[in-house]
Amino acid sequence: MAVYDPKSMKADEFINDGEILETLAYAEAHKNDAELIDRLLEKARPKKTDTGCVCAGLTHREASVLLACEIPEKVARMYEIAEEIKLAFYGNRIVIFAPLYLSNYCVNGCVYCPYHLKNKHIPRKKLTLEEVRAEVIALQDMGHKRLAIEAGEDPVHNPIEYILDCVSTIYSVHHKNGDIRRVNVNIAATTVENYRKLKEAGIGTYILFQETYHRKSYEELHPTGPKHDYAYHTEAMDRAMEGGIDDVGLGVLFGLELYKYEFAGLLMHAEHLEAVHGVGPHTISVPRVKKADDIDPAAFDNGIDDETFIKLAACIRLAVPYTGMIISTRESEQVRQRMLQVGISQISGASRTSVGGYTEAERPHDTEQFDVSDQRTLDDVVRWLMESGHIPSFCTACYREGRTGDRFMSLCKNGQILNCCHPNALMTLAEYLEDYAGPETKALGYRMIEEELKRIPKEKVRAIAEQNIRDIRSSNRRDFRF
Ligand code: SF4
Ligand code: SF4
Repeated sequence: MAVYDPKSMKADEFINDGEILETLAYAEAHKNDAELIDRLLEKARPKKTDTGCVCAGLTHREASVLLACEIPEKVARMYEIAEEIKLAFYGNRIVIFAPLYLSNYCVNGCVYCPYHLKNKHIPRKKLTLEEVRAEVIALQDMGHKRLAIEAGEDPVHNPIEYILDCVSTIYSVHHKNGDIRRVNVNIAATTVENYRKLKEAGIGTYILFQETYHRKSYEELHPTGPKHDYAYHTEAMDRAMEGGIDDVGLGVLFGLELYKYEFAGLLMHAEHLEAVHGVGPHTISVPRVKKADDIDPAAFDNGIDDETFIKLAACIRLAVPYTGMIISTRESEQVRQRMLQVGISQISGASRTSVGGYTEAERPHDTEQFDVSDQRTLDDVVRWLMESGHIPSFCTACYREGRTGDRFMSLCKNGQILNCCHPNALMTLAEYLEDYAGPETKALGYRMIEEELKRIPKEKVRAIAEQNIRDIRSSNRRDFRF
């Protein structure tokens, strides 16, 4: 039987079923232990230092106790601390991105995804490079600067060369004042060699959702195709890092398995990356199973309600304080609003989850990967964020300044990221307002920028940011960054 070892390179040892079951039993036994819960909350709370702020995080076992806890005032305190942590490290900024679906050809049999091989009635589509250009122009014309590309696994239709060509096409398009400055990649688990090629192509984060950490369920949910191999999939992030990719993004598809099991597995994966590579996950995504062609979420009986979902997100924020947390348009405006208060730092906006969706006048549904709950325009999302006190940020500076992996993490852990994130957010927001915003959003945005500029502590940084924003407003000069 596999023994738990976070430093092991074997999936069954760093995501160890026995350790997860013991963790769940421990959490259940201690869920009403108010004294222990108070100690854990105190441990998770951000602490001020001479240079900024630090957070201790929580182990998978500690965080599982909090997730199991049902004492209302303790849960309320978890939410407060989650927000404190988010504000300490990411301030009131929310980074915005959009997914770009390249191809829905797929050889896998994932039972929760409409792109599975046996779905014979979904139209199959793969963008040509000309179509990629057209999609990118449509995204740039909305104001997007950061994309996550998505493609099914298909060595014939979507080989790595196709993905690499798409990445370089995306970076090459500069329509009016637009450009895409960071391309994150969400494609199937692959080889070290292919990860190296992606790194050389200049990708941002490599994202791969585990879907479920429960091996048996994983194998049943992925009955056919290369994705059936649990160990190959689970060990993918280690290969990505071996291939030189510093920033990796984890995620679970909540609803497939028991959420407490997934939560412990997810945190063990983060601990493993930290133990082996010295850097935890750059991002963690929290998608839930949604309706789609051929997919009924009711068929998966581990669905979680909104309250549990919010508690889960708060507990992830407490356990992995430095990670970027992502919520997509799978969720409604109401759920996204609540999630913003418990630690989410990135959201997608105006997403179309179909291949070629952005160039269509109407939102197409025939090739959608999932139903989009939040269907607002990017301008609506930007205005909504500002109305609730968040600065919409189109910043991509860190990656382009070489602040990735452990360099990003050590800056973040020292609270130093605050010295560049805030002015970068304001400058990229000014670009958005100048080039893409509607009149109401523009007026609100500049009022926000004026107020937020005053909050930049360093006079010199403030003066440079003010000058750059004046330049953005009076010329076509763009892409200023700290
Ligand atoms: S989840 Fe990914 S691998 Fe599975 S069927 Fe869908 S596109 Fe293919
Ligand atoms: S400065 Fe870096 S961490 Fe801050 S918002 Fe920009 S890219 Fe993100």
